[in-house]
Amino acid sequence: MELIDTHCHLTFDDLARDIDAVLARSRATGVIEWVTVGTDPKENRKAIELSERFDNIYAAVAIHPHDAKTVTEDILQELKKLAQHKKVVAIGETGLDYHYDFSPREEQKKVFAEHLKIAAELNLPVIIHCREAFDETMQILEEYRSDIKNIVFHCFSGSAEQAKIVLDKDFYISFTGVVTFKNARIKQEAAKIVPLDELVLETDCPYMSPEPMRKQRINEPALMIHTAKFLAELKGMDLTDFAKAVTATSRAFFGLPDK
Ligand SMILES: [Zn+2]
Ligand SMILES: [Zn+2]
Repeated sequence: MELIDTHCHLTFDDLARDIDAVLARSRATGVIEWVTVGTDPKENRKAIELSERFDNIYAAVAIHPHDAKTVTEDILQELKKLAQHKKVVAIGETGLDYHYDFSPREEQKKVFAEHLKIAAELNLPVIIHCREAFDETMQILEEYRSDIKNIVFHCFSGSAEQAKIVLDKDFYISFTGVVTFKNARIKQEAAKIVPLDELVLETDCPYMSPEPMRKQRINEPALMIHTAKFLAELKGMDLTDFAKAVTATSRAFFGLPDK
């Protein structure tokens, strides 16, 4: 069985300092490829470095919506340059976060649009971070979607109704371990309606370990197996068949080579 962690932050200190062991534990569970996601200029460079060191690590680059207020023309220029690296498989995470509002909303929207323009120009898929900003995220995507290859809503936290809106646009949906939580009924209802050719898995580690490992403070790719098991069961499927399908979807989404 092979799984791909489509959204992790392997460059963050908790994971980076022990990367060989983290990857070994991941491989032992069948999670054999990783897309490590950059969130600021420094993390973007680190993500690319890591992808150069390890064959099965790919990188995504972006400035997180939290940091939209720090974005300058120079930062966008560098981002565009980094995005042309051969191991960069997506622009992200980008989008809108109205839960924390760490950057003013107008700036978040502007920076989100700039990311979408880069993705369109370089023909790269986009990883969306959307928190309490569903309608405006969809509005902005509507403007650019025809020029963008693939779009995934990462750490999907919406309802089945919102999932339907996303799927109707042919966007993808990604679930973290949060879907396994006991209080995640709404997300579980959403997961039920996502077809396997539009569903991918992620840890978003080092954050949010899945059940039954929720107490593990530092999440890591090895724990994604619990999310896979949970969703396979939710869909009444055999884990192997489920893994095969979502791995094929992940490869198609990012254009990863078959291994
Ligand atoms: Zn995110
Ligand atoms: Zn993330």
